[in-house]
Amino acid sequence: MAVIVWLRRDLRLADHAALTAACKSGGPVIPVYILDSYVEDMGAAPRFRLEQALAEFARTLDGVGSRLILRRGEALDVLRALVKETGACRVFWSRDLSSTSIDRDRAVKLALRQSGVEARSFVGNLLFEPWDVQTGSGGAYKVFTPFWRAVRGRDVQPPRLPPAVLPTPVRWPRSDRLEDWNLSADMQRGRAVVGAQMQVGEASAQARLQAFLQNDMAVYNDRRDELAGWGGSDLSQYLAWGEISPATIWHAVQPALHEGTRGAEAFLRQLAWRDFAWHLMFHSPSINRENWRDGWQDFPWNTDAERPEVIAWKRGQTGIDLVDAAMREMYVTGRMHNRARMIAASYLTKHLLTDWRIGMRWFEDCLIDWDPAANAMGWQWVAGCGPDAAPYFRVFNPDTQAEKFDASGAYRQKWLAPDSGFYQAVPRSWNLSPDAPRPAPVVTLPDGRARALAAYDSFRGKN
Ligand code: FAD
Repeated sequence: MAVIVWLRRDLRLADHAALTAACKSGGPVIPVYILDSYVEDMGAAPRFRLEQALAEFARTLDGVGSRLILRRGEALDVLRALVKETGACRVFWSRDLSSTSIDRDRAVKLALRQSGVEARSFVGNLLFEPWDVQTGSGGAYKVFTPFWRAVRGRDVQPPRLPPAVLPTPVRWPRSDRLEDWNLSADMQRGRAVVGAQMQVGEASAQARLQAFLQNDMAVYNDRRDELAGWGGSDLSQYLAWGEISPATIWHAVQPALHEGTRGAEAFLRQLAWRDFAWHLMFHSPSINRENWRDGWQDFPWNTDAERPEVIAWKRGQTGIDLVDAAMREMYVTGRMHNRARMIAASYLTKHLLTDWRIGMRWFEDCLIDWDPAANAMGWQWVAGCGPDAAPYFRVFNPDTQAEKFDASGAYRQKWLAPDSGFYQAVPRSWNLSPDAPRPAPVVTLPDGRARALAAYDSFRGKN
């Protein structure tokens, strides 16, 4: 009897518990990706990156004698139809703990089980499941450092080997054509610009990991904050689409960790931030909608997303060099350096006093490594209303940050230059010219800082 493997953020063969279990069941395995409303709602860059990931994974499946079946519709309807068409008696998937997915998956599991289908979810995208990491009193960690202390010495399940072949059905069910989904429709710039720099797929993820271990991890501590070189592993886009599992990375780092290689512990700690973000989202499903800290609903954020200064922020036109460089980097490449994310987010939420959700949504539209949990946590952390957040009164000064982390000016020069690729990428309707002089600051750093601190003082006075 056939097994349907419903793929989501797990587009890989290696360390894929649901796929391994499906292969072990002995029946034919039917890998399926469903374009449902959850996927339709994603931003332009994530959908564009997903399109590439699906095309690549279809080739990978082809290489092991299998196929990727694509279907459009609400997940339960599609799965029910496929069960009927293929006679499958099992549907397996990797857990996705975002709030929307949890509700959807719970309903799917219940309905399939009621109709006699074995529906099972498997560990997939985290090092530790949220219910396996608890404080001494049985609660969830709300601060990262004790969370890290609790998990750093733990065993992580060794990665499962990829199946050499996937048992195939006698007759494949019909599949949509990926081109017809047109996932890159809102990302015209992507084809020309982002696409040229993008790395996709499981083999590429493994190669990136090996290159990082051999060349970069030892200098991770020293280089990761430098804006001009990336300095990080650059694995986030692969992790976001599940082209590599965090357990694979964790285990690959262990030999270096035990040899005391510099950078190994710091890197794993960063990887654990990703788990922390997902655990937070699991325990506080509204973290991408509501201020996480109590009382912050009264903070005087400006919620008007159409204000000229917000538009200027999105378009890299605030007149603050480092912020504009960061926003242009993201628009052109779909990536943004971690420190640049913090600085750009801080300028929006503090100097421009803007509601963090406006920035979060723009990042969601522009990042090819968009991860709902890391993005929400990152924004709330910077804005001061999140778990383990930087205190609101600690306002990043982009100029001081530039002196420290872009001392040569190379990062700013690259992204502010007329030939950075930005002007070729932006839509005509933005009306930007590479020959125009740099704009004056929409809000100067001293004014913005003073305004942010005054807002915080008045808020604190009431709370
Ligand atoms: P490395 O430094 O090599 O770290 C290894 C891995 O650890 C990363 O690939 C990532 O999976 C994880 N990681 C590292 N830092 C963090 C962190 N602060 N929070 C959670 N996980 C982390 N990361 C995303 O993957 N997707 C997002 O949508 C996202 N949005 C962010 C928004 C804001 C406002 C901020 C401040 C941070 C955001 N981050 C996000 C976290 C971080 O910026 C990226 O994970 C990092 O830049 C990726 O580069 P890297 O792979 O070289 O990271």
